[in-house]
Amino acid sequence: MTERIFEARNRAISLLEEKGLDSGAVRFVLEYVTNKNHAALLSDLREQLTEEQQKLFWRKIDELLDGKPVQYVLGTESFYGRQFEVNENVLIPRPETEELIYGALERVRNLFTNKNVTMADIGTGSGAIAITFKKEWPEAIVTATDISKEALAVAKRNAEQLGADITFEEGDMTAPIKHSNWDVILSNPPYIARVEAESMSESVLAFEPHRALFAEEEGLFFYKKLAENLPKLMNKPALIGLEIGYQQGPAVHKLFTDAFPNAKVETVKDINGKNRLLFCEIYE
Ligand code: SAM
Ligand code: GLN
Repeated sequence: MTERIFEARNRAISLLEEKGLDSGAVRFVLEYVTNKNHAALLSDLREQLTEEQQKLFWRKIDELLDGKPVQYVLGTESFYGRQFEVNENVLIPRPETEELIYGALERVRNLFTNKNVTMADIGTGSGAIAITFKKEWPEAIVTATDISKEALAVAKRNAEQLGADITFEEGDMTAPIKHSNWDVILSNPPYIARVEAESMSESVLAFEPHRALFAEEEGLFFYKKLAENLPKLMNKPALIGLEIGYQQGPAVHKLFTDAFPNAKVETVKDINGKNRLLFCEIYE
């Protein structure tokens, strides 16, 4: 005899709570295994799971009990209103990064008269930035890069799934895009200093790719590379938009005002009031 939906749900919730883990994920696992939306689940709580559903349910709950983020367990995360496939080769896209795109679109609207802007996303991971930009600004000509083949495979599937026409290039930072000049460059590079690992959540540390998170030189390594290499790659006008660590505002601001003395460089706070973005507007 298999479990009823509410029995499986209650048992999973208490097991997760006993371990101090988030039990809110149980609902999403149930939606996933039964293929029912939340409303249908609520009205069908007394229904029996099939054997297959029950097996799948407990396999997923076991992964949650190991501390794996629900996004990896179910293979998906919502970003800017769209579903992106994720797996352990890519960072789970964060809400702060939605703010990077929002701020970039606002500035692109003011900066360019021509809509066919060329845009590159450096270190695309799941493809979240490049794909969202292309969906929100369909005339853009978009390139996305990453040093990780495995990440690019995920990004390509997301582009296909979401119908975004994007060129993908594998390589180190600006190396794959140095053959041309760009109107817009966006990047959320790794920016966490190694010493910060101690204060990070267990599940981020254990499951998210370290290559996507950590950077040398107190987390500033990739901003230094960008400040060094981008001046020769930008059109006029142009926009650079970067996600930054909340303590990195002054340092990254200085790197970019030194690299682009005539540009308007601003650090912008995220919705939690922390320095999180840097925009650099380069004029004629
Ligand atoms: N853009 C995605 C997002 O915002 O969700 C992923 C950002 S993640 C913080 C940084 C990405 O940069 C990872 O996908 C990682 O593989 C990539 N990366 C790390 N080192 C790199 C390098 N030297 N050149 C290019 N990409 C790199
Ligand atoms: N925002 C991510 C975190 O806090 C880090 C992203 C990054 O290093 N670019 O885990």
